[in-house]
Amino acid sequence: MIDTHSHIYDEAFDADRSEVLARARDAGINKVFLPNINADTLNPMLSLCRDNPGFCYPMLGLHPEDVRDDWSCCLDEMETQLSAPSNPFIAIGEVGLDFYWDQTFRDQQLQAFRRQVLWAVRYGLPLMIHSRDAHRDIVEVLTELLPDGRTDSGAEGGMLVRGVFHCFGGTADEAAELLSFPGFMLGIGGVVTYKNSRLPEVLRTTVPLSRIVLETDSPYLAPVPHRGRRNETAYICHVAQRLADIYEVSVQKVTQITTQNALKTFDKAA
Ligand SMILES: [Zn+2]
Repeated sequence: MIDTHSHIYDEAFDADRSEVLARARDAGINKVFLPNINADTLNPMLSLCRDNPGFCYPMLGLHPEDVRDDWSCCLDEMETQLSAPSNPFIAIGEVGLDFYWDQTFRDQQLQAFRRQVLWAVRYGLPLMIHSRDAHRDIVEVLTELLPDGRTDSGAEGGMLVRGVFHCFGGTADEAAELLSFPGFMLGIGGVVTYKNSRLPEVLRTTVPLSRIVLETDSPYLAPVPHRGRRNETAYICHVAQRLADIYEVSVQKVTQITTQNALKTFDKAA
């Protein structure tokens, strides 16, 4: 099983990080992908990955909620690392748009997102996309920058840009629109276990298992029965179990297919 979205380098795990990693391995997780947040999280994330080779894998990007007036310099520094040969980054993330809490930096968020989508094209890496109250803008940017989901207007042989729409929680129409980008998966986590979630019905009717990857977003969004407490990678088994119920298949089948999907999307970690 692969947790495609976990912030284990977060200070929420400072007291017991090695136990958290051990519990993840015991629960059958064999890889964890770590999305970056900002310039300050880079070093903690990279040292965790150096200490756990073949298990923890880093991404590089500026989270939309951390886009400020200095976004452009911040991205300049990140791109220096990205352009270094044999850099460890398996994806661009997490990037995107978040207009839920604050729209002060709306334009800056859009510019930063566009630039980072173009990194995915230039460096041939998948995108880990965060979208909150921004579905329309996300689709517009991707449609413009990735015609037909490819980098060269859909001509034969064009590179298919891959990625994940992380923490998907939209409608069936929104799911269908996102899945029209052929290289993309929906990231499904704890929300699918919540009692009043509409997500199970949207998945059952609109999203094949072949387009889903598992994620925790730990330390946030813990699944039932841990809802409201700190989330950790080991809890992803509750998400896999819920998906098995929804699709009426075995947990082994969910595990096998979502692992394949994750390795196909993040091929540098395969
Ligand atoms: Zn995240």
